[in-house]
Amino acid sequence: MELFERVASGGHEQVVLCQHPETGLRAIIAIHSTQLGPALGGTRFRSYPTDADALEDVLRLSRAMTYKAAVAGLPLGGGKAVIIGDPATVRTEGLMRTYARFLESLGGRYLTAEDVGTTTADMDLIRDETSYVTGVSEARGGSGDPSPATAVGVVHAMEAVAAHLWHSPSLAGRRVVVHGVGKVGGALARRLADAGASVTVADVRAEAVAELVASHGVRAVPTESAHREPCDVYAPCALGGVLNPATIPELACIAVVGAANNQLADATCADRMLAAGITYAPDYVVNGGGIINISEELAPRGYDRERAYARLAEVGATTRAVLEAAAAGGITTEAAADGLAESRLAAAGGHTIRTFRR
Ligand code: NAD
Repeated sequence: MELFERVASGGHEQVVLCQHPETGLRAIIAIHSTQLGPALGGTRFRSYPTDADALEDVLRLSRAMTYKAAVAGLPLGGGKAVIIGDPATVRTEGLMRTYARFLESLGGRYLTAEDVGTTTADMDLIRDETSYVTGVSEARGGSGDPSPATAVGVVHAMEAVAAHLWHSPSLAGRRVVVHGVGKVGGALARRLADAGASVTVADVRAEAVAELVASHGVRAVPTESAHREPCDVYAPCALGGVLNPATIPELACIAVVGAANNQLADATCADRMLAAGITYAPDYVVNGGGIINISEELAPRGYDRERAYARLAEVGATTRAVLEAAAAGGITTEAAADGLAESRLAAAGGHTIRTFRR
């Protein structure tokens, strides 16, 4: 496909190629939409087999950010960036500073954040060169690691699902399987156990599981069978693609509510979940706490943790709205979430080339 045709087919506004031979920087910044506000999304730093693969990745990820911000009700658009290369060998201070100056040159059309291959320390370095960055450290007035906020958002989403299915938001006594107990899943498991839920966990890192068993009395199961565990809520918090044609018939849960990105392996899987009678809370609604929290850094008075955490309840309200729209329309929850995001985008009118203004 021709380049412009490919970019237009995804509805992207602008794609920027950045190169700087002196530092070896090769980056692509994709601004999918600024209809609702300046585009926000992380910088991914990794190697790709070809430049075309890097372009595909950044186009796909930036579009997903438009939907994530829109469904969360944020005045932000969607964007993403990739720096091409293995960060372990390519990353230098000069390269990151050069990249930051490219961000500055976009005048606030795109605001970056941490993603796979970049760290909070990178965001702090970028902040030296430009204000168009979020997720800087708390020491620099930022919000730091978004994972605890993401976990709180997941709890709000689970409570919304409980209220929808069982007419009470309480998770006390509910059996929840948390699959992946890293930064988000670990915080989630602890919160659920503290709330009186009956928590089962699985992770390839035996030490993370052992720590939770000791500290919170959770049960452990092997990772291979976690999705088959009978429970009220299955919470994927590790990898994408866990809801696929092989696993969906084996699920023994009533609902799926987890933080992992891209849980549905392909376009047929939302329908398969509906047909299986399992309530699926769309991943990009459920894990929206991270972006809600980070967006608070852009408030005129700067980041305030109390205000940011109060806003995480919006994840629950959006989850509830999506479940109700899906039930009313007899459609999948994924389609209902996309519809909600698209109606917010449509309400904002056509393309507007927005930039960030403090
Ligand atoms: P993390 O790397 O801290 O945790 C992932 C955990 O999954 C690790 O403990 C890892 O050992 C475990 N794991 C890996 N493969 C596994 C397998 N096959 N079976 C069981 N466990 C396995 O990552 P995180 O920041 O907690 O993010 C978890 C998921 O949530 C990711 O999909 C991420 O994209 C998504 N997410 C995270 C945030 C955030 O704020 N961190 C926000 C939105 C979405």
